[in-house]
Amino acid sequence: MIRKLVGFDTTSRESNLALIEFARDWLDGFGVKSELVFDETKHKANLYATLGPEDKSGILLSGHTDVVPVDGQDWHSDPFKATEKDGRLYARGSSDMKSFIAVALALVPDFLAAKLKTPIHLGLTYDEEVGCLGVRPLIAALAKRKVKPRLCIIGEPTSMQPVIANKGKRSYVCRVHGHEAHSSLTHAGVNAVETAAEIVAYLKGMARRRRDKGPFDQAFVPPYTTIHTGTIQGGTALNIVPRDCRFEFEIRNLPGEDPGDIRAEFERHAKTLLAEMQAVSRDAKIEFDEYNATPALSAEPGEEVVQLARALSGANSTGKVSFTTEGGLYQEAGIPTVICGPGSIEQAHKPDEFVALDQLGQCEGFMRRLMERAAQ
Ligand SMILES: [Zn+2]
Repeated sequence: MIRKLVGFDTTSRESNLALIEFARDWLDGFGVKSELVFDETKHKANLYATLGPEDKSGILLSGHTDVVPVDGQDWHSDPFKATEKDGRLYARGSSDMKSFIAVALALVPDFLAAKLKTPIHLGLTYDEEVGCLGVRPLIAALAKRKVKPRLCIIGEPTSMQPVIANKGKRSYVCRVHGHEAHSSLTHAGVNAVETAAEIVAYLKGMARRRRDKGPFDQAFVPPYTTIHTGTIQGGTALNIVPRDCRFEFEIRNLPGEDPGDIRAEFERHAKTLLAEMQAVSRDAKIEFDEYNATPALSAEPGEEVVQLARALSGANSTGKVSFTTEGGLYQEAGIPTVICGPGSIEQAHKPDEFVALDQLGQCEGFMRRLMERAAQ
């Protein structure tokens, strides 16, 4: 099943429909009906299906079907063909996160034969890697159902250790609009590049303050909220005072820290710069566009979903991760969620991504224990 799934090039920019239709047909072969929730282009879809009683709320096994690009990466095997070597299976998506989906799909006949009393729901999503976009319409569709999942396990790669929290993420583009002038007449222009640089430096200061003074949660690596600028473009020539500059930055916040407060702070600072700019040109402006917001996930160790994941994995402890998942969105929708899946995030997004075969064995054991519990 893993070989089959990694064979579909579901890089986020591509359609995921071939994989989704394969999963739909596979389920259909066992008499399980699927609901597909499409995006507006109809080129991508989420799949939702229930194994066992349809009138009860059960446990959702959720995974994203999209993968990150292999462009420019130095692979030693075909990334869209599973290659087994030295106890590892190499392929794009082998750890992040088609193996979890594949193990769940491969076990569908076993789940059905187990005569489940608590249903197992399957949720396959699109566009997780580009801002957890697909899961949002899936959650909206679930809200319309009479029965929605009671708990959720997302199989992102955690080496089969239950992860109860992840950082939230906000992505911004900032556009600084200044005023052009001959570069010998700096007083007559508003330098958009310099203003952008001042904001970037201010953001860096905010990041340093969090690094040095917290708040801290030592279960995360790094244990504080991070702020980072990733791209910048501006100016046209050295002898022109630049009119436009644009940069992108992100906040990855600890569950306890409100990214709204962080936004309020950098907007306040931008306002102080604006006064000076508008004294030269009334048209000068600084715009912040928040183009993606994914909330943090934070489950309590005592919660049922955490206890369940610990029992199924046999893990004594739980962890927290800095990468974003769909978990915060499920939690926000009232579905308690943990992250637990095969493979390691260390191998994700890199060339020669792999999953260790013993991880697959652990994942299968996890699912079989879930099957036993759900049949009781
Ligand atoms: Zn992932």
